[in-house]
Amino acid sequence: MPGISVVTTQGARVDLHDDQLAALKSALGDRLVTPGARGYDEARTIWNAMIERRPALVARCATAAEVQQAVRVAAASNLLLSIKGGGHNIAGNALCDGGMMIDLSPMKRVVVDPAARTARVQPGVTLAELDAATQAHGLAVPLGINSTTGVAGLTLGGGFGWLTRKYGFTVDSLTSAEIVTADGSLRRASEQENGDLFWAIRGGGGNFGVVTEFAFRLHPVGPEILAGLIVHPFEDITPVAARYREFVAKAPEELTTWLVFRKAPPLPFVPADWHGREVVVIAFLYAGDAAAGQKVVEPLRRFGRPVGEHIGPMPYAGFQQAFDPLLTPGARNYWKSHDFTQISDAAVGVIQDFVSRLPSPHCEIFLAHLGGAAARVAPDAMAFSRRDAEFIINVHTRWEKPADDRACVGWAREFFTAMAAHAMGSVYVNFMPEDETDRLPAAWGPNYARLAAIKAKYDPKNLFRVNQNIQPAAV
Ligand SMILES: Cc1cc2nc3c(=O)[nH]c(=O)nc-3n(C[C@H](O)[C@H](O)[C@H](O)COP(=O)(O)OP(=O)(O)OC[C@H]3O[C@@H](n4cnc5c(N)ncnc54)[C@H](O)[C@@H]3O)c2cc1C
Repeated sequence: MPGISVVTTQGARVDLHDDQLAALKSALGDRLVTPGARGYDEARTIWNAMIERRPALVARCATAAEVQQAVRVAAASNLLLSIKGGGHNIAGNALCDGGMMIDLSPMKRVVVDPAARTARVQPGVTLAELDAATQAHGLAVPLGINSTTGVAGLTLGGGFGWLTRKYGFTVDSLTSAEIVTADGSLRRASEQENGDLFWAIRGGGGNFGVVTEFAFRLHPVGPEILAGLIVHPFEDITPVAARYREFVAKAPEELTTWLVFRKAPPLPFVPADWHGREVVVIAFLYAGDAAAGQKVVEPLRRFGRPVGEHIGPMPYAGFQQAFDPLLTPGARNYWKSHDFTQISDAAVGVIQDFVSRLPSPHCEIFLAHLGGAAARVAPDAMAFSRRDAEFIINVHTRWEKPADDRACVGWAREFFTAMAAHAMGSVYVNFMPEDETDRLPAAWGPNYARLAAIKAKYDPKNLFRVNQNIQPAAV
C-alpha cells in the first residue's frame, strides 16, 4: 500500500507509509480498507444519514490484538481516530473525516454462561444479537428499544429501555471490560482491577479506549413477557397525560411505560381512518409474571377513549424489535433531549403545541419513565450520574430530504428551548447531537472533574476525541 494521506488530531496531514502500516496490513489483509475499496462505503455508512464523513483508513478489526495494532499506529502518528460499534450514534461519532476509523463490526462473539448468569460480549454485537443469545436461556441485559443499535456505544453512555426500572441502566449490569487504552495496552477494568478506568467507562463513553469485550450480569426475563401499546386521540393529550402521571407514580418497578406523541403508523389494531393522524401512544412492558402484569396494567386500559390497543403476552425479544420499522437506518435525523423530575401540565402544553405542527410525518416526541432500580445507585458510584431523572424526553426529528433540514432541525431546537424551563438541565450523553458541545458538563454533572482526571491518566493526548469529548485535566 503506497503512502496514505491521513489527518492528525491537530488537523495536519501526514503520509502513512508501508513501513508504518506493514504490521496492521499483514494482520488485517483486505480488512484494512481505503476509499474506493470494496466494503469502504458499507463501513462508513451509519444510521443517521445526516452525517457524511470519509475516513482515510478503515481498520475492520476482528480481535483485540488487531485493535491494539490499530491504536498503536494511530497513536504513533497522532492520527484522528474514531471508533465504530453499531454506528447508531446520533452525532455520528463512529466516523471521522480524513483519519482512521476502527470498525468493530466483525467482533460478534457472545458467550453466555447460563448457570453463572453472565455474558461476555464483543463490541460489534447489536442489541438483537445479544437478546437472541441471552433469551435462549430466559435471561437478558437491560438494553434499549431499537434492536439494531450497538451494545458498545449504548453501554458506554449508560443504556436504558424496557427493563431499566426493574434492573437498572445497562452500565449497572456491567461487571468488567477489556479495553485497549491509548498506549496500545490491553487492560482489564473491573471493581478489582483498574477501578478508576472501570468507574470512567460506565457512562464516560468512548473517551478512555476501545472496549474489546464487555462482561455483563444477566437477569431472568421472559422469554415471554406482557407488553403492549394503547393508542389515544391526540386531542385527549391533557387528560391522558394527567392520568398517566398519577398511574406511573404508583407503578411497580416491573412496569416500564413510555408515552409517544406522533402520527399513527398503519398498525393493524388502529382503525385505518386514524392512520397518519396525531395520537398519544402508551407503550409498556411488564418484566414479571404476566398474570400479575395484567392486573397492574388494567387501570391503564381504562384511561380515556383509546382508538386501539394491542396487549398480551409476547416474546421479549420480539417486543425489543417492535419499534424497528419506525427507526430504520438511512433517514435524516436530529435529536434534542431533556431530563425531568416531573411532567407538569405546562410541559404537556408545550408538547401539545409542537406535536400539532410536526415538520415531517416521521417525527415523534417520546417520554420514557425511569426511576426504580435505576434510581437506587449512588450518583458517584460510576461516571453515569443522572439517577434522579424520573423521565427523559427525546425529540426524534426524522425526515427524508436535505431540503427539509432547516425546518426539521429548527422545529427540534425550538421545542428544546420551550421545554428547558420545565427540565432538570441534565442530559443523556447518548442522545446528544454533534452541535451540543456546550452541554457536555451537564451530561456528567458532578462527575465531570473526576472523569477529566482519569482521562489525563489514560489518554493524556486525547487520542480518543471523536466522541462526546472529555478534555484531559491539566496535570
Ligand atoms: C434508533 C435509535 C434508538 C435508540 N434507542 C435507545 C434506547 O432506547 N436507549 C438508549 O440508552 N439509547 C438509545 N439509543 C442511543 C444509543 O445508545 C447511542 O446512539 C449509542 O451511541 C449507539 O451505540 P453504537 O455502538 O450503535 O454507536 P456508534 O456510533 O458506533 O458509537 C457511538 C460512540 O461510542 C463509541 N464506541 C462505540 N464502540 C466502542 C468501543 N467498543 N469502545 C469504545 N468506544 C466505543 C464511539 O466512539 C462513539 O463515540 C438509540 C439510538 C438510535 C439510533
